[in-house]
Amino acid sequence: MKWVEKWNICRLAVLIVTLVMGTVPVGAAENGGKMPFSDVKEEAFYHDAVTWAYSEGIVAGTGKNTFSPNQKVSRADLVTMLHRYAEKAGMSVSGNSMAMPFSDVTVKSDGTKPYYYDGVAWAFSNAITKGVAETTFGPRVTCTRGQAITFLYNMKGKPAVTTASPFLDCGEGAYYEKAALWAYERDITSGKTRYLFGTWDQVTRAEAVCWLYRLDRNKEEKSIRVLTQAAADTLPRSYGETDLSAEFDYRYVFTHCGDLVKSLGNDPATVLRYYAETGRFHGMQATEDVPAGEKAKIICIDPGHQDHGMSAMEQNGPGSDVRKAKLTTGTSGWATGRDEYMVNLEVSLKLRDELRKRGYTVVMTRETNHVNISNIERAQIANAAGADIFVRMHCNGAETGALHGALTMAPADDNPYLTAGIIKDSQRLAQTLLDHQVRFTGQKKFEVQLVNNMTGINWARMPVTIVEMGYMSNHEEDRYLSSTDGQNKIASGLADGIDAYFAGRS
Ligand SMILES: [Zn+2]
Repeated sequence: MKWVEKWNICRLAVLIVTLVMGTVPVGAAENGGKMPFSDVKEEAFYHDAVTWAYSEGIVAGTGKNTFSPNQKVSRADLVTMLHRYAEKAGMSVSGNSMAMPFSDVTVKSDGTKPYYYDGVAWAFSNAITKGVAETTFGPRVTCTRGQAITFLYNMKGKPAVTTASPFLDCGEGAYYEKAALWAYERDITSGKTRYLFGTWDQVTRAEAVCWLYRLDRNKEEKSIRVLTQAAADTLPRSYGETDLSAEFDYRYVFTHCGDLVKSLGNDPATVLRYYAETGRFHGMQATEDVPAGEKAKIICIDPGHQDHGMSAMEQNGPGSDVRKAKLTTGTSGWATGRDEYMVNLEVSLKLRDELRKRGYTVVMTRETNHVNISNIERAQIANAAGADIFVRMHCNGAETGALHGALTMAPADDNPYLTAGIIKDSQRLAQTLLDHQVRFTGQKKFEVQLVNNMTGINWARMPVTIVEMGYMSNHEEDRYLSSTDGQNKIASGLADGIDAYFAGRS
């Protein structure tokens, strides 16, 4: 064997070691701690955390100048990070005499160990991990957020947690339940969305490093924020009577899986079925760690009705004895002959686009006419999306062609299904939207109608209004409602109203 070949074999060995080692902390010392990653921008939520973790030797890059913040973390890499962190933090980092139980974490015959061996031995003997099975650690398996936060929690010795959890997807008694709550209380993470921890999503490198960084900053063993029971009681606790899984997050799906949703015909029922069959959605981006105040407001728009009615009955409100048809067919135009569901969708899509332009996150209950979604299910889409407001779009019809004008509806003060706060905000929302619509369109303005018998209002868990944009039984207004000019003006007026509502203006 010539010298050159030997050299190449050496280089190959180095390359293999580098590839296998992944996030193994190397290199910080040589760079004097200066962070070399071009994919960690100054303004990124993880910038400071990566700078810290790199300079402490807890992580290295995935390449010379890359950190790969969105790359998923393997269980081996996560344990290695924790092991390094524990050492820096002055915790015990040795394994004890317990034999390594995992057949996939072994010392080779030549005595060499995989880079994660000591970390796994430490984690096992300190009850930080039990493996994915009795004799399997799963080093190459990517780590879920539920697993990762449990590792951190166990590393800290399972501190006591005090209060109710803000997360819908951290079920009572689940192995990650207390860990997620602890992380919330210690301000290590605020979850993936407002109501969801994102238990089954794979943890990204950016997220893992942020968690360690905050754990390190919040060294004192005390809670930084606590969700009071009263606040917890205002959170949506259930998804009603349907089989909608608590872990299904419409907000993720509709904002991050647009193409998939489109390929499923934009039909929430189909999307839900797909979810039930496949278990989850892939390709979601990290939305972790945007401060709550800076999270875009979420508007759920429900274009009323669809191309057919649903005569089966459903509860008029949670716990109600009254049952109403799942969905009625709506009215139709005396001049245009068009069906209400069409007009509702047309204006709703314009409103959606206008709101997105203004920076809102918009979740639609439907984007086509041929769907199958009851009124309860529409409210549940808004609930699951964690929407800040729920705007239900309709047109009116009357026995006489003389009536014309716009009105909105809101729950009355004595609505038994909604909290006083939601009722008050719904009434303000209804009034503000109505004022701004007619300011823009010049239509006649009716009063806000207070109603307690609307299923889609009663099941909502946020401020909600029904907008009756105008009367399709009035020839002139019917034509206006189907005209481009009329629809644009209504959408602009309602968007202004939504701006005003959130700004606390009238
Ligand atoms: Zn209607």
